[in-house]
Amino acid sequence: MYDKEILEIFDKLNIVDKLYDKIRMIDPVLKRVIHDNTEAVELPVKCFEFWGNNKKCENCVAMRAYNDDKTYVKIESTQNDVFMLTAIPVNLHNRRVVIELFKNITESMVFGKSNGIQQNEMQNMIDRMHNLATVDSLTGIYNRRYIYEKLPVVLSNSIMTNHSIALIMADIDFFKNVNDTYGHLAGDYVLKTFAQVLCEGLNRESDWVARYGGEEFIICLPGAKQNAAIEIAERLREAVEYTKLNYDEQSFQITASFGVCSIVPDVSIKSDQLIECADKKLYEAKRNGRNRVEA
Ligand code: GH3
Ligand code: MG
Ligand code: MG
Repeated sequence: MYDKEILEIFDKLNIVDKLYDKIRMIDPVLKRVIHDNTEAVELPVKCFEFWGNNKKCENCVAMRAYNDDKTYVKIESTQNDVFMLTAIPVNLHNRRVVIELFKNITESMVFGKSNGIQQNEMQNMIDRMHNLATVDSLTGIYNRRYIYEKLPVVLSNSIMTNHSIALIMADIDFFKNVNDTYGHLAGDYVLKTFAQVLCEGLNRESDWVARYGGEEFIICLPGAKQNAAIEIAERLREAVEYTKLNYDEQSFQITASFGVCSIVPDVSIKSDQLIECADKKLYEAKRNGRNRVEA
Protein backbone atom coordinates (compact mmCIF):
# COMPACT_ATOMS: atom_id res chain seq x y z
CA MET A 1 0.00 0.00 0.00
CA TYR A 2 2.78 2.38 -0.90
CA ASP A 3 0.54 4.77 -2.67
CA LYS A 4 0.20 8.39 -3.71
CA GLU A 5 -1.84 9.23 -0.64
CA ILE A 6 1.05 8.35 1.69
CA LEU A 7 3.57 10.36 -0.29
CA GLU A 8 1.20 13.33 -0.28
CA ILE A 9 0.94 13.17 3.51
CA PHE A 10 4.73 13.17 3.84
CA ASP A 11 4.93 16.04 1.41
CA LYS A 12 2.71 18.08 3.70
CA LEU A 13 4.77 17.04 6.71
CA ASN A 14 7.80 18.70 5.06
CA ILE A 15 6.78 21.90 6.80
CA VAL A 16 7.49 20.43 10.23
CA ASP A 17 10.42 18.33 9.05
CA LYS A 18 13.00 20.51 10.80
CA LEU A 19 11.19 20.34 14.11
CA TYR A 20 11.57 16.59 14.39
CA ASP A 21 14.39 14.08 14.17
CA LYS A 22 12.29 11.41 12.59
CA ILE A 23 8.86 11.21 11.05
CA ARG A 24 7.37 7.90 10.09
CA MET A 25 4.09 6.20 9.36
CA ILE A 26 3.28 2.91 11.04
CA ASP A 27 0.58 0.30 11.35
CA PRO A 28 0.44 -0.21 15.15
CA VAL A 29 -1.58 -3.42 14.92
CA LEU A 30 0.85 -5.15 12.60
CA LYS A 31 3.71 -3.22 14.29
CA ARG A 32 5.00 -2.42 10.82
CA VAL A 33 6.73 0.70 9.53
CA ILE A 34 5.05 1.85 6.33
CA HIS A 35 7.16 4.91 5.55
CA ASP A 36 10.09 6.70 7.19
CA ASN A 37 11.41 10.13 6.23
CA THR A 38 14.94 9.61 7.54
CA GLU A 39 15.89 6.27 6.07
CA ALA A 40 14.88 4.03 3.27
CA VAL A 41 12.76 1.36 4.89
CA GLU A 42 13.66 -2.12 3.91
CA LEU A 43 10.43 -3.84 4.59
CA PRO A 44 9.42 -5.42 6.80
CA VAL A 45 10.68 -3.21 9.63
CA LYS A 46 8.98 -3.53 12.99
CA CYS A 47 8.17 -0.18 14.62
CA PHE A 48 9.57 -1.17 18.04
CA GLU A 49 13.02 -1.91 16.57
CA PHE A 50 13.71 1.81 16.87
CA TRP A 51 14.07 1.53 20.66
CA GLY A 52 16.88 -0.98 20.34
CA ASN A 53 15.63 -3.72 22.66
CA ASN A 54 13.66 -5.81 20.18
CA LYS A 55 10.61 -5.83 22.45
CA LYS A 56 7.10 -4.66 21.71
CA CYS A 57 6.38 -1.53 23.74
CA GLU A 58 4.23 -2.12 26.82
CA ASN A 59 2.74 1.35 26.63
CA CYS A 60 2.14 1.82 22.93
CA VAL A 61 0.88 5.35 22.26
CA ALA A 62 0.45 4.58 18.57
CA MET A 63 -2.00 1.83 19.47
CA ARG A 64 -3.83 4.24 21.73
CA ALA A 65 -3.92 6.90 19.01
CA TYR A 66 -5.23 4.24 16.64
CA ASN A 67 -7.94 3.03 19.04
CA ASP A 68 -9.17 6.44 20.21
CA ASP A 69 -8.59 8.43 16.98
CA LYS A 70 -6.73 10.98 19.12
CA THR A 71 -3.17 12.28 19.29
CA TYR A 72 -1.00 11.03 22.16
CA VAL A 73 2.47 11.98 23.36
CA LYS A 74 4.96 9.97 25.37
CA ILE A 75 8.52 10.21 26.58
CA GLU A 76 10.60 7.12 25.89
CA SER A 77 14.28 6.30 25.90
CA THR A 78 16.78 4.26 24.00
CA GLN A 79 20.06 3.18 25.59
CA ASN A 80 21.55 6.67 25.26
CA ASP A 81 18.82 9.10 24.30
CA VAL A 82 15.46 10.35 25.46
CA PHE A 83 12.76 11.00 22.88
CA MET A 84 9.45 12.75 22.85
CA LEU A 85 7.12 10.78 20.62
CA THR A 86 3.89 12.20 19.23
CA ALA A 87 1.48 9.69 17.70
CA ILE A 88 -1.17 11.07 15.34
CA PRO A 89 -3.90 8.88 13.84
CA VAL A 90 -4.46 9.34 10.11
CA ASN A 91 -7.35 7.89 8.17
CA LEU A 92 -6.30 6.74 4.73
CA HIS A 93 -9.02 5.83 2.29
CA ASN A 94 -9.06 2.18 3.31
CA ARG A 95 -7.52 2.03 6.77
CA ARG A 96 -6.24 3.93 9.78
CA VAL A 97 -2.50 4.33 10.31
CA VAL A 98 -0.41 6.40 12.70
CA ILE A 99 2.14 9.14 12.03
CA GLU A 100 4.91 9.21 14.61
CA LEU A 101 6.98 12.34 15.21
CA PHE A 102 10.22 11.80 17.14
CA LYS A 103 12.11 14.58 18.88
CA ASN A 104 15.39 13.82 20.60
CA ILE A 105 15.12 15.78 23.87
CA THR A 106 18.15 14.36 25.68
CA GLU A 107 19.92 17.71 25.76
CA SER A 108 16.97 20.05 25.55
CA MET A 109 14.55 18.95 28.26
CA VAL A 110 14.03 21.09 31.31
CA PHE A 111 12.10 19.93 34.35
CA GLY A 112 10.30 22.77 36.10
CA LYS A 113 12.39 23.73 39.12
CA SER A 114 14.71 20.74 39.12
CA ASN A 115 17.75 21.01 36.93
CA GLY A 116 20.44 18.47 36.33
CA ILE A 117 18.41 15.28 36.26
CA GLN A 118 20.68 12.31 35.67
CA GLN A 119 20.09 9.84 32.88
CA ASN A 120 19.28 7.01 35.32
CA GLU A 121 16.77 9.17 37.23
CA MET A 122 15.20 10.03 33.90
CA GLN A 123 14.99 6.35 33.04
CA ASN A 124 13.28 5.62 36.37
CA MET A 125 10.79 8.40 35.72
CA ILE A 126 10.00 7.06 32.27
CA ASP A 127 9.56 3.53 33.63
CA ARG A 128 7.23 4.83 36.34
CA MET A 129 5.18 6.75 33.79
CA HIS A 130 4.74 3.72 31.55
CA ASN A 131 3.88 1.62 34.54
CA LEU A 132 1.16 4.05 35.57
CA ALA A 133 -0.34 3.87 32.10
CA THR A 134 -0.58 0.09 31.77
CA VAL A 135 -0.57 -1.37 35.28
CA ASP A 136 -3.51 -1.56 37.68
CA SER A 137 -2.43 0.19 40.87
CA LEU A 138 -4.24 -2.17 43.26
CA THR A 139 -3.29 -5.58 41.90
CA GLY A 140 -0.05 -4.74 40.09
CA ILE A 141 -1.15 -6.62 36.97
CA TYR A 142 -2.06 -5.08 33.61
CA ASN A 143 -5.07 -2.75 33.48
CA ARG A 144 -8.00 -2.41 31.13
CA ARG A 145 -6.15 0.05 28.90
CA TYR A 146 -3.48 -2.59 28.30
CA ILE A 147 -6.15 -5.04 27.12
CA TYR A 148 -7.26 -2.66 24.39
CA GLU A 149 -3.68 -1.97 23.42
CA LYS A 150 -2.54 -5.57 23.38
CA LEU A 151 -5.51 -7.67 22.31
CA PRO A 152 -5.80 -6.28 18.74
CA VAL A 153 -2.12 -7.09 18.24
CA VAL A 154 -2.43 -10.66 19.55
CA LEU A 155 -5.54 -11.08 17.43
CA SER A 156 -3.82 -9.87 14.31
CA ASN A 157 -0.89 -12.25 14.96
CA SER A 158 -3.32 -15.15 15.32
CA ILE A 159 -4.98 -14.22 12.04
CA MET A 160 -1.65 -14.07 10.22
CA THR A 161 -0.35 -17.34 11.65
CA ASN A 162 -3.73 -19.07 11.52
CA HIS A 163 -3.41 -20.04 15.18
CA SER A 164 -6.16 -20.05 17.73
CA ILE A 165 -6.48 -17.55 20.55
CA ALA A 166 -8.28 -18.11 23.83
CA LEU A 167 -9.72 -15.53 26.15
CA ILE A 168 -10.92 -16.36 29.65
CA MET A 169 -13.05 -13.97 31.64
CA ALA A 170 -12.90 -14.62 35.39
CA ASP A 171 -15.15 -13.08 38.02
CA ILE A 172 -15.08 -13.61 41.78
CA ASP A 173 -18.31 -15.11 43.10
CA PHE A 174 -20.35 -13.07 45.56
CA PHE A 175 -17.52 -10.63 45.98
CA LYS A 176 -19.89 -8.03 47.35
CA ASN A 177 -20.38 -10.34 50.35
CA VAL A 178 -16.62 -10.27 51.01
CA ASN A 179 -16.69 -6.48 51.19
CA ASP A 180 -19.86 -6.50 53.29
CA THR A 181 -18.63 -9.17 55.70
CA TYR A 182 -14.92 -8.42 56.09
CA GLY A 183 -14.67 -4.81 54.93
CA HIS A 184 -13.44 -3.06 51.83
CA LEU A 185 -9.75 -3.43 52.71
CA ALA A 186 -10.21 -7.18 53.02
CA GLY A 187 -11.87 -6.99 49.59
CA ASP A 188 -8.82 -5.23 48.21
CA TYR A 189 -6.55 -7.88 49.69
CA VAL A 190 -8.71 -10.58 48.06
CA LEU A 191 -8.43 -8.86 44.66
CA LYS A 192 -4.63 -8.74 44.97
CA THR A 193 -4.43 -12.38 45.99
CA PHE A 194 -6.84 -13.42 43.24
CA ALA A 195 -4.71 -11.63 40.63
CA GLN A 196 -1.61 -13.38 41.97
CA VAL A 197 -3.24 -16.82 41.85
CA LEU A 198 -4.28 -16.25 38.23
CA CYS A 199 -0.76 -15.11 37.23
CA GLU A 200 0.90 -18.04 38.99
CA GLY A 201 -1.40 -20.46 37.19
CA LEU A 202 -0.08 -19.59 33.74
CA ASN A 203 2.88 -21.28 32.08
CA ARG A 204 3.71 -19.60 28.81
CA GLU A 205 5.60 -16.35 28.46
CA SER A 206 3.05 -15.11 25.94
CA ASP A 207 0.06 -15.63 28.31
CA TRP A 208 -1.08 -12.59 30.24
CA VAL A 209 -3.66 -11.49 32.80
CA ALA A 210 -5.28 -8.08 33.12
CA ARG A 211 -7.88 -6.54 35.40
CA TYR A 212 -10.88 -5.75 33.24
CA GLY A 213 -12.66 -3.88 36.02
CA GLY A 214 -13.91 -4.36 39.60
CA GLU A 215 -13.55 -8.08 40.31
CA GLU A 216 -13.40 -9.16 36.65
CA PHE A 217 -10.18 -10.30 35.06
CA ILE A 218 -9.17 -11.31 31.56
CA ILE A 219 -6.68 -14.05 30.81
CA CYS A 220 -5.31 -14.14 27.29
CA LEU A 221 -3.80 -17.37 25.96
CA PRO A 222 -2.38 -16.85 22.47
CA GLY A 223 -2.27 -20.12 20.56
CA ALA A 224 -4.46 -22.04 23.02
CA LYS A 225 -7.14 -24.30 21.59
CA GLN A 226 -10.50 -24.77 23.25
CA ASN A 227 -9.57 -27.91 25.24
CA ALA A 228 -6.30 -26.47 26.53
CA ALA A 229 -8.03 -23.23 27.51
CA ILE A 230 -10.77 -25.10 29.38
CA GLU A 231 -8.13 -27.15 31.19
CA ILE A 232 -6.27 -23.99 32.22
CA ALA A 233 -9.48 -22.29 33.36
CA GLU A 234 -10.37 -25.37 35.39
CA ARG A 235 -6.93 -25.38 36.99
CA LEU A 236 -7.28 -21.69 37.86
CA ARG A 237 -10.75 -22.26 39.27
CA GLU A 238 -9.39 -24.98 41.56
CA ALA A 239 -6.39 -22.90 42.60
CA VAL A 240 -8.75 -20.08 43.62
CA GLU A 241 -11.09 -22.41 45.49
CA TYR A 242 -8.26 -23.92 47.55
CA THR A 243 -6.41 -20.71 48.33
CA LYS A 244 -6.66 -19.89 52.04
CA LEU A 245 -7.24 -16.19 52.63
CA ASN A 246 -6.25 -14.60 55.92
CA TYR A 247 -7.11 -11.03 56.71
CA ASP A 248 -7.17 -9.34 60.09
CA GLU A 249 -7.09 -12.66 61.92
CA GLN A 250 -10.02 -13.97 59.92
CA SER A 251 -9.75 -16.92 57.56
CA PHE A 252 -11.99 -17.47 54.61
CA GLN A 253 -12.07 -18.78 51.05
CA ILE A 254 -13.58 -17.60 47.80
CA THR A 255 -14.60 -19.12 44.50
CA ALA A 256 -14.72 -17.68 41.00
CA SER A 257 -16.51 -18.37 37.74
CA PHE A 258 -14.84 -18.56 34.35
CA GLY A 259 -16.03 -18.03 30.77
CA VAL A 260 -13.82 -19.43 28.02
CA CYS A 261 -13.82 -18.41 24.39
CA SER A 262 -11.35 -19.94 21.96
CA ILE A 263 -11.37 -19.35 18.22
CA VAL A 264 -9.19 -19.40 15.16
CA PRO A 265 -9.91 -15.80 14.21
CA ASP A 266 -10.36 -14.31 10.78
CA VAL A 267 -10.12 -10.66 9.79
CA SER A 268 -13.75 -10.03 10.64
CA ILE A 269 -13.19 -10.74 14.36
CA LYS A 270 -12.54 -7.74 16.60
CA SER A 271 -11.26 -7.63 20.19
CA ASP A 272 -14.64 -6.57 21.52
CA GLN A 273 -16.31 -9.64 20.06
CA LEU A 274 -13.80 -11.91 21.74
CA ILE A 275 -14.37 -10.20 25.08
CA GLU A 276 -18.12 -10.34 24.59
CA CYS A 277 -17.94 -14.04 23.79
CA ALA A 278 -15.96 -14.81 26.99
CA ASP A 279 -18.31 -12.56 28.96
CA LYS A 280 -21.37 -14.48 27.71
CA LYS A 281 -19.79 -17.75 28.80
CA LEU A 282 -19.00 -16.23 32.17
CA TYR A 283 -22.63 -15.23 32.51
CA GLU A 284 -23.58 -18.87 31.82
CA ALA A 285 -21.15 -20.04 34.49
CA LYS A 286 -22.83 -17.68 36.97
CA ARG A 287 -26.30 -18.77 35.95
CA ASN A 288 -25.39 -22.44 36.19
CA GLY A 289 -24.34 -22.16 39.81
CA ARG A 290 -20.96 -20.31 39.98
CA ASN A 291 -17.54 -21.80 40.86
CA ARG A 292 -17.48 -23.35 37.41
CA VAL A 293 -16.06 -23.06 33.92
CA GLU A 294 -18.24 -22.65 30.83
CA ALA A 295 -17.04 -22.73 27.25
P1 GH3 B 1 -21.43 -12.42 41.31
O1 GH3 B 1 -21.17 -13.75 41.91
O2 GH3 B 1 -22.72 -12.40 40.56
O3 GH3 B 1 -20.30 -11.93 40.49
O4 GH3 B 1 -21.65 -11.43 42.53
P2 GH3 B 1 -20.68 -10.27 43.04
O5 GH3 B 1 -21.11 -9.89 44.42
O6 GH3 B 1 -19.27 -10.74 42.91
O7 GH3 B 1 -20.92 -9.17 41.97
P3 GH3 B 1 -21.43 -7.68 42.10
O8 GH3 B 1 -21.28 -7.11 40.71
O9 GH3 B 1 -22.79 -7.64 42.73
O10 GH3 B 1 -20.43 -6.96 43.09
C1 GH3 B 1 -19.13 -6.67 42.75
C2 GH3 B 1 -18.53 -5.92 43.91
O11 GH3 B 1 -17.16 -5.64 43.67
C3 GH3 B 1 -19.18 -4.58 44.15
C4 GH3 B 1 -18.03 -3.62 44.30
O12 GH3 B 1 -18.17 -2.83 45.42
C5 GH3 B 1 -16.84 -4.52 44.44
N1 GH3 B 1 -15.58 -3.91 43.95
C6 GH3 B 1 -15.31 -3.45 42.70
N2 GH3 B 1 -14.06 -2.94 42.66
C7 GH3 B 1 -13.53 -3.08 43.91
C8 GH3 B 1 -12.27 -2.74 44.50
O13 GH3 B 1 -11.35 -2.19 43.86
N3 GH3 B 1 -12.09 -3.05 45.81
C9 GH3 B 1 -13.06 -3.66 46.54
N4 GH3 B 1 -12.82 -3.95 47.83
N5 GH3 B 1 -14.27 -3.97 46.03
C10 GH3 B 1 -14.50 -3.69 44.72
MG1 MG C 1 -18.47 -11.16 40.99
MG1 MG D 1 -18.59 -8.71 38.21
